[in-house]
Amino acid sequence: MAVAVNSQLNPLENAERQFEEAAARLKLDSGVKEMLKRPRRATIQWLPVMMDDGTIRLFEGFRVQHNIARGPAKGGIRFHPDVSLEEVSALASWMTWKCAVADIPFGGGKGGIRVDPRTLSKGEVERLTRRYAADLSDLFGPESDVPAPDVNTGEREMAWIADTYSMHERRTELGVVTGKPLEVGGSAGRREATGRGVMICVEQICQYLKMPLKGTRVAVQGFGNVGGVSADLLARECGAKIVAASDVSGAVCNDAGIDVPALLKHSAENRRGVAGFAGAKPLSGSILEYDCDILVPAALENQITSDNAGRVRARIIAEGANGPTTPDADKILEERGVHVIPDILCNAGGVTVSYFEWVQNRMGFYWPEAEVNARLREKMVKAFGDVIAMKERTDAATRDGAKLSLRIAAYMVAIQRVLRVHELRGMYA
Ligand code: NAD
Repeated sequence: MAVAVNSQLNPLENAERQFEEAAARLKLDSGVKEMLKRPRRATIQWLPVMMDDGTIRLFEGFRVQHNIARGPAKGGIRFHPDVSLEEVSALASWMTWKCAVADIPFGGGKGGIRVDPRTLSKGEVERLTRRYAADLSDLFGPESDVPAPDVNTGEREMAWIADTYSMHERRTELGVVTGKPLEVGGSAGRREATGRGVMICVEQICQYLKMPLKGTRVAVQGFGNVGGVSADLLARECGAKIVAASDVSGAVCNDAGIDVPALLKHSAENRRGVAGFAGAKPLSGSILEYDCDILVPAALENQITSDNAGRVRARIIAEGANGPTTPDADKILEERGVHVIPDILCNAGGVTVSYFEWVQNRMGFYWPEAEVNARLREKMVKAFGDVIAMKERTDAATRDGAKLSLRIAAYMVAIQRVLRVHELRGMYA
């Protein structure tokens, strides 16, 4: 069964609560705190698009640049009917912290259009994407703001954005966007990068907890780019057993282990999703509460809340999605001893290989997939180690025995890195 998005939970408030907790531990002064909390720039676009029947329809689009101290704003573009300025602002701030945890030279940005693209024809989606890119061509640029795919956008949309921007610039400028098709300046390994990063984080935490990964039961919510690839790699490269998977079409389970390539094939055919897959049973309850060792939420925000956190059975939550766990749920999970690998670390593989794509575009020299994957592993292992080191240092210095969560540890690593750049650059007044 698909899990409904709880629209009453505000991702921006959640992002700010997470930031506040880390900021308090770092004893940031209030001016600095405000500077790091607020987005640098937030824009709304009303985009007129000619529909196939000749009528004109207006769509609401957003782009937020949260912090650009460490480099150009970087962040995906989401097409979804629930997109709002607040959601995009939250996602942009998570990008700032994610790029800093991964230690790549970007700031944080995010964009979105309030639309269900499944209700539009391909031509309508293309005109909408190009109109958005054209409207934002002053903000976008390889040195200023570099978008990427997010929910309901992929290589196709990125190619249209690269083309639209290039037409405006009157030269081909591939580094304006990442997540492009290989033939249009994409990077080998980018499509799998977020899921590969999730897999590496899962491997790392299993090593840290001295827990075997082979044969471990994994449930994956969301079977798109992140969820589908995470499931595939965890099964294929780590020998984990995928026991449940879900998407908007429904949820399926098989305790003997789902044949992931077969499920991927089934789900891609006519974009029908996981429902109706013959190699598993329909799952009637919530996938988040399914009996498993590792849960990979890879759909949308606010899925694990104070309502259901007490019923999560997994020992590890690997956040493929951005913001799937609310701060109230975090507290419950912490008390229950559930280890959460936070989004700003766990799904940083995508933006890391986006960074590699941007580097390759600027060099005009392309790396083989094995090199991309090796560099990704190096970055992810380092980021994971930095977060663990922050946690262990902080725990050792805490007298009351309270343990720091990996989420707040990751925020602390990130905030310190961004702050250091602000200090070195100084304040332009
Ligand atoms: P996608 O559009 O490829 O897939 C999203 C999946 O979630 C689809 O299978 C969809 O059916 C499913 N879904 C949507 N609502 C659901 C619900 N209520 N219950 C169950 N399933 C639901 O998107 P994606 O790129 O895989 O992104 C998923 C998440 O990962 C988002 O939070 C995104 O911000 C985050 N993320 C993506 C990337 C990336 O490189 N694509 C990188 C980092 C983080």
